[in-house]
Amino acid sequence: MAAPGRDPLIVKELEFLGGMASAGGWRPETTLPEVAFAGRSNVGKSSLLNVLLRRKSAARVSRTPGRTREINFFRVNDAFLLVDLPGYGYARVAKERKAEWRPMIEGYLSTSPHLRGLVLLLDARRDPSDDDRAMLEFLAERETPVLVAITKMDKFGTQAGRDRVAAIVATLELEADQVIPVSAHTGMGRDDLATALMQIIESAP
Ligand code: GDP
Repeated sequence: MAAPGRDPLIVKELEFLGGMASAGGWRPETTLPEVAFAGRSNVGKSSLLNVLLRRKSAARVSRTPGRTREINFFRVNDAFLLVDLPGYGYARVAKERKAEWRPMIEGYLSTSPHLRGLVLLLDARRDPSDDDRAMLEFLAERETPVLVAITKMDKFGTQAGRDRVAAIVATLELEADQVIPVSAHTGMGRDDLATALMQIIESAP
């Protein structure tokens, strides 16, 4: 749990650096540590980023037409890059387009020497998808540290929420300390996520 009274992540400066539009395309040249955010479309990523950063601007940029399928890079203070990966696995998207995200996301994850870890968002109301599992397997193979943020926890009461988290932890064989229940609507878990994120960023590569 986060120490009470102290904000683990105070965003003084947030700059959008640009987007990678295709596998191996442009990316910012910096040596700052990076942390990426991923999850299926509609998981609540934009909402959570707003709450985490206490800004609406990051999510707004990532939602601009043309940017939703890009990898968007933001510099947070002079401390790290926040990398917003495109939402994947939207059922209504045509198959060809569905397959687009994979080489791009996997390409980014394989060729980013400053990547310290990834936050995978999972919707508390849904069972993890094959894409979620594929993402976790890919990261495990690469030994990339992963935090799992379980979103929309406000949809559950206390005990039902605990049961849901336990079920997701069990089915994906996660470590309990990797998992952070959150709600963008109530702010639940925001400081815990910020604390865990800063630990990952400050960890040795
Ligand atoms: P994204 O596609 O992953 O960026 O998801 P959004 O942040 O746009 O959210 C998708 C939908 O989930 C929207 O209708 C949000 O209002 C809803 N949503 C996002 N976060 C929460 C949350 O913490 N609680 C609840 N109940 N709904 C949420």
